Amino acid sequence: MPGFVDMHCHLREPGQEYKEDIASGTLAAAFGGFTAVACMPNTIPVNDNEMVTRFIIDKAKEGASTRVYPVAAITKGLKGEELTEFGILKENGAIAFSDDGRPVEDANRMRLALQYAKGFDALLISHCEELSLVGEGVMNEGTTSALYGLKGISRAAEEVMLSRELLLAESLNTKVHIAHISTWGGVELLRQAKARGVRATGETCPHYFSATDELCMDYDANAKMNPPLRTARDVEAIKRGLADGTIDAIATDHAPHSKDEKRIEFQNAPNGIIGFETAFSLAVTNLIETGILTPQQLVERMSCRPAEILGVSGGIVAKGFSADLTIADPNAVMTYNEENLHSKSANSPFLNKKYKGKVVCTIMDGIVRAKR
Ligand SMILES: [Zn+2]
Ligand SMILES: [Zn+2]
Repeated sequence: MPGFVDMHCHLREPGQEYKEDIASGTLAAAFGGFTAVACMPNTIPVNDNEMVTRFIIDKAKEGASTRVYPVAAITKGLKGEELTEFGILKENGAIAFSDDGRPVEDANRMRLALQYAKGFDALLISHCEELSLVGEGVMNEGTTSALYGLKGISRAAEEVMLSRELLLAESLNTKVHIAHISTWGGVELLRQAKARGVRATGETCPHYFSATDELCMDYDANAKMNPPLRTARDVEAIKRGLADGTIDAIATDHAPHSKDEKRIEFQNAPNGIIGFETAFSLAVTNLIETGILTPQQLVERMSCRPAEILGVSGGIVAKGFSADLTIADPNAVMTYNEENLHSKSANSPFLNKKYKGKVVCTIMDGIVRAKR
């Protein structure tokens, strides 16, 4: 297959190298079949100026196992106030813009950002979360949160913001990309928007088509993420959205955290799970084996569409193009554990379970980068 392109991950460098760095993160990505990754700007310092963008690109040149495309912040310090210099950042290699981890709370600021981005033909990626509706919620709001006595996050918290972004993009006739869609309503909103010609695209993550909020059982903080795992109805809708193309891409939202950070009580643990190495197996197990997607469609969602949306090369196996290739065995049974993962972190609820499908070898730019 053409190498997978992950349009949403967190490599944690600069600033949090104890969780992950560019070398370890991209090695894990290569073992997951990815030949290119786009990394979010919530590093320390934030990637909101060309110095940080250049640092990431230079670091990647030194020792990355995949192509690395930095996503720069929409607002300085991810504070939701002053916009960053889209033009300069883009010139220095920023592939897109996002305040991921946070929404741009102020609607008019987001409108100005979209308008400003349009002038540079820059892509904005929105982390959709209406914070006033999230409140102190820590997992999906429903019977499971009630059972565990944890504060819930309603689907509306995601969908209200998602609607806002679609309406703003529509009114400005500009593009917008919706990150990590997790709800059935979110899929439906994007489907309707696309049907009336809104230039919106969307991604989901392997966990949203593989698991429900019941994974938070026993208060396992390795199942805590944002947006949270939802319900069976949402999982079904995400799968349908992937099948009919409403959801363009599968991105990992690989978000490493140390053991100590995740070992505390559920309410206080940080959000996020690692995702590079398990992505293909979860996709084969939950999408291919179940007949939701054909292998060709999976390649579109994991390689062709994300490359297209980001405007980078990829998603193609042909003479004259660089050899970015993934070789996989769809019938192999694979179990992931701390010992065979290449990330510095192991925060995942998908370890020590059997899955169908295994990435055997990843080649980037004609060189073998990972072999299992
Ligand atoms: Zn996010
Ligand atoms: Zn993210």
